[in-house]
Amino acid sequence: MADIITTAPDGTLRVPDEPIIPFIPGDGIGVDIWPAARHVLDAAAARHGHRIAWLELLAGQRAYDQTGTWLPDETVAAFRHHLIGIKGPLTTPVGGGFRSLNVALRQILDLYVCLRPVRWFEGVPSPMRYPEKVDMVIFRENTEDVYAGLELEAGTAEAKRLIDYLRDEFGWQVRPDSGVGIKPVSETASKRLVRAALHYAVQRKRRSVTLVHKGNIQKFTEGAFRAWGYELVREEFADVAVSWEDCQGEPGDRILVKDALADVTLQQVITRPDDFDVIATTNLNGDYLSDALAAQIGGIGIAPGANINFVTGHAIFEATHGTAPRYAGLDKVNPGSLLLSGVLMFEHLGWQAAADDIVAALEATIADHIVTYDFARLMEGATEVKCSEMASAIVDRL
Ligand code: NAP
Repeated sequence: MADIITTAPDGTLRVPDEPIIPFIPGDGIGVDIWPAARHVLDAAAARHGHRIAWLELLAGQRAYDQTGTWLPDETVAAFRHHLIGIKGPLTTPVGGGFRSLNVALRQILDLYVCLRPVRWFEGVPSPMRYPEKVDMVIFRENTEDVYAGLELEAGTAEAKRLIDYLRDEFGWQVRPDSGVGIKPVSETASKRLVRAALHYAVQRKRRSVTLVHKGNIQKFTEGAFRAWGYELVREEFADVAVSWEDCQGEPGDRILVKDALADVTLQQVITRPDDFDVIATTNLNGDYLSDALAAQIGGIGIAPGANINFVTGHAIFEATHGTAPRYAGLDKVNPGSLLLSGVLMFEHLGWQAAADDIVAALEATIADHIVTYDFARLMEGATEVKCSEMASAIVDRL
């Protein structure tokens, strides 16, 4: 019987045989990629004796058209109640009182980790000479940094008050015609993010965690992120991990925790991708890095994402691309991003075998050169199929 997912007192998830999982199909190409992804997810789940009771929620354009609000309270309440959910892309309302619906959901549910695994599938066109060396997992802090939304517009009375205050109290000279923003980076948020990355690295037997920051310039925000990360390794992970600073010689079986400047990282993920494994980083760095890495393995049509709070158990898995309105309803785009987000969701639920099946079937489909337009235009000898046909081809190979 269908039932909700709960958490045990130790924080682990209790997943019933038939969990109720809320979903938002998404705006634009959501009408194409959601049915395709769901087709594969249901088929893979069934092969392993699982069944999902899907619960549709409203958000984005469809919610606005039907209810006059972009993010109805019932939708947030349902995600809160059911813990785990999945969503397609949502239109960002212009002047709707939201910076972005995705950012709003992350903040309301305190989904503090943005998880973005980036790996290459053999046969996918890539600008890299050795794309097989790209296998990284990004843990991007999701709640603070310049995304906290603490900004004042140039010329407003509020901006003037803050600029005056900074001059009078701190002696800081900020040009009077400036917009001003605050970049908070806390010990609490930094440590819980790095803790999540380290737990992941331990569970998945990864070899290193790199703290990516811009601490040479922003010493008390980005630099502090690095320092708190290393402190956490000493405080909580000394038996399984060692920091670069404390490592004499080889790390042995322990996970090596190192750090790198964000600008250098953007170079080195291209010149020596195999130096990077799990990456833990602040919000803005993580944003740039996720998209740059996605480009290395074939673009955003196939890069999955998840937003997770590992303490409360809340998580929303989501396609990382937007609504691509000009392709909406054409049954044309790549369902890979949403499908692989579903794979992350299965892994999170403990349905590893079903998740592995989907990845293997997707690999086999691409190996047979059956792909959507985005890959077909870059691959020789490809058979271009529709979004729904891609899903059927994957199901045939499960
Ligand atoms: P976009 O929707 O991501 O589309 C940009 C381009 O990326 C497309 O034209 C297409 O490139 C490619 N693309 C995206 N999804 C694809 C897929 N599944 N398969 C193959 N190619 C894909 O970005 P945008 O046009 O800048 O944004 C449109 C709307 O989406 C905006 O309202 C934006 O705010 C919103 N958005 C939402 C989210 C979210 O909900 N998570 C994220 C980003 C943007 P080609 O034309 O070259 O083939």
